[in-house]
Parts: sequence; structure tokens; C-alpha cells
Amino acid sequence: MELEIRKSGIREWILDLFFPNVCPVCRRVMRWDLYCCEDCVKELEPIGEKQEKLLCPRCGKYVCVCAERGIRYDRCIAAGIYEGAVRKAVLSFKYDSNSNAAEIFACICAKRIEKAGIPADIITYVPMSARKRRMRGYNQAELFAEALSEKTGIPVRHGLLSRVYSVEEQHERTASERIESARREYSAAEGAELSGERVILCDDVLTTGATMSSCAGILKDIGASEVTAVVCAGTL
Ligand SMILES: [Zn+2]
Ligand SMILES: [Zn+2]
Repeated sequence: MELEIRKSGIREWILDLFFPNVCPVCRRVMRWDLYCCEDCVKELEPIGEKQEKLLCPRCGKYVCVCAERGIRYDRCIAAGIYEGAVRKAVLSFKYDSNSNAAEIFACICAKRIEKAGIPADIITYVPMSARKRRMRGYNQAELFAEALSEKTGIPVRHGLLSRVYSVEEQHERTASERIESARREYSAAEGAELSGERVILCDDVLTTGATMSSCAGILKDIGASEVTAVVCAGTL
């Protein structure tokens, strides 16, 4: 037992020489066994119980869009609000594959899922186009789903959804343009089928909810009985 601990310590220590453990918020090198440095962890405030006051628990939006947009997921859990330290952590997760961020957000969401007693059989994630995934080398929504699976014990189901094509990044488009393109961008993966599973659908950030809604709708069309959207952060 003792030997195993030392072995893993040496392994971590060697890994740390080649891949220094970096804080996902301030990007300073920190002790190998931390997810976030001690200064930044104070700023990484999870919204927890406050979510109901900040974001609609159903659509996950600051200004509820449940009625007007026919949101197809059943509820939304966000670890934080997309600003300040949370935003920095999401960005370093998205562009620098800082896995510490995935771990932090997964810990926060796992606690909320457990506390709220949200029923779920499988976890899946919003897919990236094959081309983009090749270029980036990973899909951050998938990494988040895997970290969440590790914390909750709920298995990840890969290959349910596919991204048919990819239009340019969503930043400069209006809400209705996003909804329309999200509808065309995703589809069920070939042969994907569900039989009444309750699904947790992961993504990094919820902006309009169009992507989540489109993917949740597809999951329901192939047999999911309910879909809970779980994201690292929601926008105000
Ligand atoms: Zn830091
Ligand atoms: Zn709502």
C-alpha cells in the first residue's frame, strides 16, 4: 500500500516536470495536487442554491425563454455564471485543455445533481464536428462529461449525437439565427437508439440554449425519457 502511494507520487512528480500543474484561472504554476490555486479558489464562486434567483432552473437563462422558444430539455444546472474567475476557468478549459477546470466544474455539478435528487441513467455531451475535434485534439464538453461521470458514477454514453456540419463560431449571431442553425447542425448518430433513459447532457457554456435544446430534442426523438442540461457556466 505504502509503495503504491509512493509510486503514484513519483509518477505525478515526473508528470509535473513535463506538464506543470497550472491554475485554470490565473494560469500560474501551482502545487501538483491542487485543482485551483488558493487565491483563485475564493473567486470561483459556484452559484449553487442561488441559481434559481439568477437563472431559470428550467431553461437556464437569466431572462426565461421557456415559453417562447419551446426549450426541449427538462431542467438546467449551471456550476457558475460566465464571468470573472468562472469565465477564465472555462476559457482555459476550452482553449488550453486545462483539465483542472473540468474537475472543479464536475465536482460542483455532481454535488448539485445529488442534492437535487436528479434522476439519470446516462451522461452524454454536445458533439464537436470531426474536423474541429481533430484540430483541437479534444472536445471540452466530452472531457466535462467524463469528469462528471467519475464523480457521480453515472456512465458516459458516446456516439449518440453527431454534428452534421459546423457554421462559424456563434458569437455574432442573433438568438433566432442560432436557434435555426442549431436545428440544422446536429443530428442523431447513425443507429443511435435509447429506450427511456434519463439523460444528462453536458456542454461548457449555455448561451441562448439553442444548441442544448436542439440536442435534447434529438435525444428525446431517439427515445430519451428526459434530459437534464448540465453546463460549466450560464451567461447573464
Ligand atoms: Zn490561480
Ligand atoms: Zn425558463
